[in-house]
Parts: sequence; structure tokens; C-alpha cells
Amino acid sequence: LKCTYHPDVETNLTCSNCGKPICPKDMVYTAVGIKCPQCARPVGRTRARGKPRDHVLALAVGVAGAVAGGLFLGELLRWLSFGSFILTLGYGYLMGEAISRAARRNVGLFYQVVGGLSTLAGLAMTVLVRGGAFSPFFLLAGVFAVAVTAARLRE
Ligand SMILES: [Zn+2]
Ligand SMILES: [Zn+2]
Repeated sequence: LKCTYHPDVETNLTCSNCGKPICPKDMVYTAVGIKCPQCARPVGRTRARGKPRDHVLALAVGVAGAVAGGLFLGELLRWLSFGSFILTLGYGYLMGEAISRAARRNVGLFYQVVGGLSTLAGLAMTVLVRGGAFSPFFLLAGVFAVAVTAARLRE
């Protein structure tokens, strides 16, 4: 197959929507596979979902934030007897912001899932580090924190 946009380039990639042959220079990653630039063009309010680099960076920041942020929050809550609700929410917000920046402000389901799972993993880390019993308020704050992270990355 020859690329539609670059007739001198041999390729075996095709658009998942229209089946047009495309080469790596043209392909656009979407939730439903790779597409040609034409089919991947944003519809309505839909914004770009980013390049593979954005996905990798968002994932890296999510993992780093889960480990480092979770440890930090856990240590903090060990010594603080108050403010766990607002600190947990703040953690969710910061995770969303950090991942959003890493993704160069691209949004979409991929980033929401990465963000939500990272915050969840970070809070699990917090629970492990802090130990002891947790109030229902902390659990509630945890649910809110995951929602806050995901909302920041919503399309
Ligand atoms: Zn297409
Ligand atoms: Zn091409």
C-alpha cells in the first residue's frame, strides 16, 4: 500500500474509519484506533486528544504523582489530626493539574482514566503510609478527589 498523503511512502497502516492507507507521519491516535487526519478532525467541541508523547507523559506524571504524592500525603496525615478532607481534595486537584500540563492540555477518556487511577493509587499509598483507622470523611474525600482529577481531564 502507498500512503494517501505521501505517494512515495510504502505503508501497511490504514485509517480505522475510512480505510485509507496512511503512514506514521499522518496517523492520529484516537480512542478507537488510528485515523487519517481527515477522519480525526475534531467534531463540534471535541478537542484534540494529543499525540503518543502526550499519552506517555501523562502516564509518567500520573505514576510519579501516585507514588510521590501518595507518600507525601500519607506522611502529612500521620502528623496532622485535622484537614485530611481538604488535603485529600487538594491532592486530587493537583494530580489533575499536573497530568493536564503533562498532556499539554489535551483532554479525553484516556487522560481521565490515567488521572482517576493515579489518584486512586496515590490514595491507596496514603492509606498504607499513614496506617491506622480512617474516618468515613477520608473515604468520602477520596471519592471526591478521584472525581476532581477526572473532571480536570474531561473532554
Ligand atoms: Zn479516514
Ligand atoms: Zn503519509
